[in-house]
Amino acid sequence: MTLDKIMDSISPLWGICPFETIKDNLIECRAKSRLPENPESVIVACFPYLLDESEYHDRNVSKYAVVTDYHEVAVARLEKAADMLRKIYPENIFSVFADNSPIPEVRAACYAGLGARGMNSLLITKKYGSYVFLGEIVTDLKINANPTEFKTCIGCRQCICACPSKAISESGFNEKNCLSAITQKKGELSDEEKKLMKECGCVWGCDICQDVCPMNKNAAKTEIKEFLSSAVSQVLSDCDLPHRAYEWRGRKVIERNINICSE
Ligand code: SF4
Ligand code: SF4
Repeated sequence: MTLDKIMDSISPLWGICPFETIKDNLIECRAKSRLPENPESVIVACFPYLLDESEYHDRNVSKYAVVTDYHEVAVARLEKAADMLRKIYPENIFSVFADNSPIPEVRAACYAGLGARGMNSLLITKKYGSYVFLGEIVTDLKINANPTEFKTCIGCRQCICACPSKAISESGFNEKNCLSAITQKKGELSDEEKKLMKECGCVWGCDICQDVCPMNKNAAKTEIKEFLSSAVSQVLSDCDLPHRAYEWRGRKVIERNINICSE
C-alpha cells in the first residue's frame, strides 16, 4: 500500500503540509511533547460530518455534536493509517493528533490545499464546506509537497451579521464570545449568556455562522459510516453521555443548558 492509498482508506479529503510552514505557529499544549523530534510533514485529514436534514429533527445541539464523538472516530482512523505507515517506514515516527493538537489545524489544512479559512475561523472545503473535523499525523518522514497558497473565504460578512454574540468581526474571531465556548462554561452564566443560548436553541455549540455561509450552500453529506449510524439530534437531561462530543464536560453543564433553553 502506498501512503496515498492508506490515507484514502481513512479520509475522503486529506493533504500534506510541510512542517516548516507552520513551525512558528505551534500551539502550546501538553500534546506538543508527542511531536517527533525532527518533524518534517503534517498529513492533515478531514472527516466530514454533515448528515441528511431528516437526521436533524428537533435538534438542540450543534450539528457536529449530533454524530458520535469525532475525537474517537478521527483518532481511531488516523491510528489505523499511522500503524500501516509505521510498517512501511519502520525508521520513522508517526504521531496522531485531533483537536488536542500543537498543530494550528486550520492553517495547516489551508497550506495542505484542503480549503480556505473563513472569517469564523473554520476551514471551508470545496466539497464538504466547513462541516468537517480535522486531525493530523505528524511525521519525521519527508514527504514531497509544496505548500499551497494560503486562501481565505470570499469575505461576504454574512457570518459577521448573523453571529448573535458578536464573536466574529473584521479584526478576527473572538473564541471567548462564541456560543460554542459559552455552552461549555462551568458555573452560573450571565443573563446575557443565557439569553443568547435560549435564542439560539442549542444546548451545545451553535451553527449559525456555518448555516448562513454561502460557501456551505452545496456542502456534501458525509460518507463516514461511524457518523451515518450514530445520530442523536435531541439531547435530553437523561441522555447517554458516553461517546458524545459533550461527554467530557459532564452532565451538570448539559442539564444546566437544557434548563436554560427550556425556561
Ligand atoms: S458558532 Fe455561533 S456564536 Fe460562534 S461564531 Fe458562529 S454564529 Fe457566532
Ligand atoms: S459567511 Fe462569508 S465571510 Fe463568513 S465565513 Fe462564510 S464566506 Fe466567509
